[in-house]
Amino acid sequence: MPSVAAPARTPGGRPSGGLLPPRRSAVILRIDNLVKHYGQVRAVDGLSLEIGEGEVLGLVGESGSGKSTVGKCVLRLTDPTAGTIELAGRDITRLSRRAMRPLRRDMHMVFQDPFSSLNPRFTIEQIVGEPLLRHKVTDRRGVSERVPAMLEKVGLRPEMRSRFPHELSGGQRQRVGLARALILEPKLVVADEPVSALDVSVQASVLNLITDLQRDMGFSCLFITHDLSVVEFLADRIAVMYLGKIVESGPKAEIFAAPRHPYTQALLSAAPVADPVRQRERRRIVLGADVPSPVDPPPGCRFHTRCPLAYDACRTDEPPLTDARGNGHPAACHLITADRIPDAAAHR
Ligand code: SF4
Repeated sequence: MPSVAAPARTPGGRPSGGLLPPRRSAVILRIDNLVKHYGQVRAVDGLSLEIGEGEVLGLVGESGSGKSTVGKCVLRLTDPTAGTIELAGRDITRLSRRAMRPLRRDMHMVFQDPFSSLNPRFTIEQIVGEPLLRHKVTDRRGVSERVPAMLEKVGLRPEMRSRFPHELSGGQRQRVGLARALILEPKLVVADEPVSALDVSVQASVLNLITDLQRDMGFSCLFITHDLSVVEFLADRIAVMYLGKIVESGPKAEIFAAPRHPYTQALLSAAPVADPVRQRERRRIVLGADVPSPVDPPPGCRFHTRCPLAYDACRTDEPPLTDARGNGHPAACHLITADRIPDAAAHR
């Protein structure tokens, strides 16, 4: 399966969008043919991707697409069934818990629910400073010196260090989660729906904060979300997942301007647009049927039970993820392989 490769980088270190001649940044995360089955459930079924240094990859899909399982496998919170995961060139797929321990300094998770991910009996200073002690970076005195600066960095007042999680709002708790994830300056952050449990009114401010922190600190990020509009301003590249597989990936601007896969076209047609004129012009694609069960995914193209463009071959043959135009924007659809341009909106 072709890999969703990290693109070339500009001299300033930001991604070029994969359209410039190859000048590869260091790859921080490489996933090759990852499979994770929970018994009969084929949560992830052969997924490959790369994230370059300082790059944000938005991994997008509906509930049940397997995107959170990818994040858990990357952090080795669950063991992959097959495939390989490399962090900064080191194969971590089958490392023991003990061997993983020092590497956990380089990779951190930001969870969806900031309340349940913070220990209610600990103060904010204990929560944010705990990774420093666990990895023996400093002692308690050092924690007291470093935590206030980290709190300020995430937009919290240093005095909040003595508070407990229940005394904070949802947005403040997520800022604490970010402070804890970033205090060791990890190479890779896996953010799993970090704003979806927050009020809409605070989502934008937390997203802006993540964007600023990422630019400032330069960490790579696997940003997992069901909502394409969330990654519009944050991600460098986007990979769209459906039933355990990537169906399309590419530079963010390309995905938003010219989505190729009918599933991506449908997701985009449902995403809110700030500009009312563009919103009116948008042709909404309503997908029929529910997402099939990952226990028994449909044969051929997994999307064929919902695709408005499906034809005979789609029901029997699985389309490969193909970069038909060689511009770092692969998609898995027979129409693209046949050099046609899918337009799901035209077949409503
Ligand atoms: Fe639709 Fe067929 Fe393309 Fe799958 S391969 S997305 S069913 S047209």
